[in-house]
Amino acid sequence: MSEFLSSPIVYLKGVGPPRAAWMAREWAIQRVEDLLHRYPYRHIDRTQFTPVHACREEGNYYQIKGTLRRLEQVGEGPRKRMTGILRDDSGALELVWFTGISYLHRYLVIGQEYIIYGRLQVFRDQFSMAHPEMEPMPAEGQVLPAVFSPMYSGTDRSAAMGIDNRFLRRLLRDLTDRLQARDIPEVLPERLLKAYRLVTPLEALRWIHFPRNEADLEAARRRLKFEELFILQLSLLRMKYLRRDRVVGYAFQKIGNYFHHFYQQVLPFELTEAQKRVMKEIRRDLAPGRQMNRLLQGDVGSGKTVVAFMTMLIALDNGFQALLMAPTEILARQHFDGLSSLGEKLGVEMAFLSGSVKGKKRALILQGLASGTIQIVIGTHVLFEDAVEFQNLGLAITDEQHRFGVEQRARLWKKGKPLPPHILVMTATPIPRTLAMTLYGDLDISVIDALPPGRKPIHTLSKNENHRLWLIGFMKEQIREGRQVYVVYPIIEESEKMDLNNLMEGFEALAREFPAPQYTLCMVHGKMKAADKDWEMARFVRGEAQIMVATTVIEVGVNVPNASVMVIENTERFGLSQLHQLRGRVGRGADQAYCILMSSFKLTADSRERIRTMLETQDGFEIAEADLRLRGPGNMDGKQQSGAIPLRLADLAQDGAILDTARAEAMAMLDADPTLSQPEHAGLLGIILKNQDNLRGWGRIS
Ligand code: ADP
Ligand code: MG
Repeated sequence: MSEFLSSPIVYLKGVGPPRAAWMAREWAIQRVEDLLHRYPYRHIDRTQFTPVHACREEGNYYQIKGTLRRLEQVGEGPRKRMTGILRDDSGALELVWFTGISYLHRYLVIGQEYIIYGRLQVFRDQFSMAHPEMEPMPAEGQVLPAVFSPMYSGTDRSAAMGIDNRFLRRLLRDLTDRLQARDIPEVLPERLLKAYRLVTPLEALRWIHFPRNEADLEAARRRLKFEELFILQLSLLRMKYLRRDRVVGYAFQKIGNYFHHFYQQVLPFELTEAQKRVMKEIRRDLAPGRQMNRLLQGDVGSGKTVVAFMTMLIALDNGFQALLMAPTEILARQHFDGLSSLGEKLGVEMAFLSGSVKGKKRALILQGLASGTIQIVIGTHVLFEDAVEFQNLGLAITDEQHRFGVEQRARLWKKGKPLPPHILVMTATPIPRTLAMTLYGDLDISVIDALPPGRKPIHTLSKNENHRLWLIGFMKEQIREGRQVYVVYPIIEESEKMDLNNLMEGFEALAREFPAPQYTLCMVHGKMKAADKDWEMARFVRGEAQIMVATTVIEVGVNVPNASVMVIENTERFGLSQLHQLRGRVGRGADQAYCILMSSFKLTADSRERIRTMLETQDGFEIAEADLRLRGPGNMDGKQQSGAIPLRLADLAQDGAILDTARAEAMAMLDADPTLSQPEHAGLLGIILKNQDNLRGWGRIS
């Protein structure tokens, strides 16, 4: 890195030790390079102003040119605030500040003409603007700072340090002016620059801050997005190829009797095209003697289990044992009940193992696994325990893996001797393609993207408190016809206590409407002991209870075909993907299923959009894409790690096309130079090695 880029910001004109220390602490900005990469969140056109009287849309952003007329402090203590009036030829607008008042007092001048920018709000039936960007109008004859003026994000706290938009703009203007081509060497190969008409890194960095026009800005963004996606994909794919070459695995070259017998005589339906494609991908992984690490995504009900079973049969055909693990006893039990009947027809020895299997029975199973007489074992995390030894474990499959920890998965590897077992991880939480390519970019991914034929869509209805009586009646009607009903309440950690109270109140209210002995209710929530949960759940699975009141603990995997109604309370508090998972709990039997989304009257635009999406589509991937658009990649359900995606500019919800290109080009580069050891790739390799530690946490499976 050049001397200029690596110099500490404290020496820059106008920064000084207090601001430098603040930026280092709060924004992790230490050197000039860090500052250059703090891109503006938007640019505004400095030539366009709206007259005050035309600012009429609450929530819209406006740029106004006017004179500051009055400034006064009102209120006391926590309600203290400062108000001001901005006047132009057409009218006056109230401005208001709640913090940083003493600083503003020093900085704002009554009678001065300002360009202000901010969001219009309505307070006590009056338009006003809180904490607007304020910039003095340049004196007559002086040019405006730039037509396209950058806006840098900051807070009241940064503004109080004097690190506001004006300060950052001046600082970056200075830095980008001093920046030279030799400070930022080109790392992308000539060929890519030509093929995608990418501007130089110098132009990109200058224009991302100070474009002369829209085209500059667009060119800068395209270059920087491509570069960051390309480098990320190159890192992930390099990791994947390194591991693939390093980790030898068993070669399952035979497709034998178990598989053929099952496929030709036992399998009760035709596989969907998607299932067939995934089976092919898996078979291709298993043959060449390298360990498989594959993620299998498929929406609820897409038929992942049969794919898992057939994969296990391939292991058996090659003389190996296989295990299938689920995150809860009930799920594991359901898998076992479903699959052991198929296994029997094939003469496969299968066993079930969980914490509840004890004593002699457990000892027998452990012995069978160690000696190899048991070919397939299905169970819970108990299978991780050291006491569980295998004669020759060749394949480990986990269902709903995001419930397992990384260390636990590492323990799985050690169960295979001498080589690690092949690993297949299944999840019903669809991850948008772009996110999967980034989060799981170093894994192989298969997707079952179609449901088996003949599924009836679930009737989804949006209702509110006015329909409560109707809802009770509807539930009674369904129960009379022998159906079962889920009623789900949100519980979020921050307000857990209140939420638990809500759940209890909801349960009691339902108990009054559905009295014993005619009705039986059961309840499951996260604060219960595992054994109690299982017991309550089992009552519902066996059909002894007609109503299950629950939190999202039921969202994953449980299969009660007779449950045909899903009532979701406080729908507005659930994320889209969560709603989709919950809806997936019904519609598993032959009956028409219903999902009733109960919500309050007053909804935010986002909540309305979530509900609308639920009413419009049942495609998990479509819903995941909408979720990504609404919440951003850092907040996807159960994917907290994705907050760590090191992307500054690229947006996974919007830049899918650039991502595709970047990934394809990264693959092509690694095909030609797998170790990136050619001299022209030295710059890229340097960056990748530097970033590697940040990425390591991503190795989902290994
Ligand atoms: P999930 O992917 O949610 O685990 P399952 O494997 O439980 O889904 O499959 C859901 C249901 O669909 C099961 O009853 C299964 O037997 C059935 N099924 C799976 N594949 C097919 C298919 N190709 N044709 C018809 N039914 C299928
Ligand atoms: Mg399943």
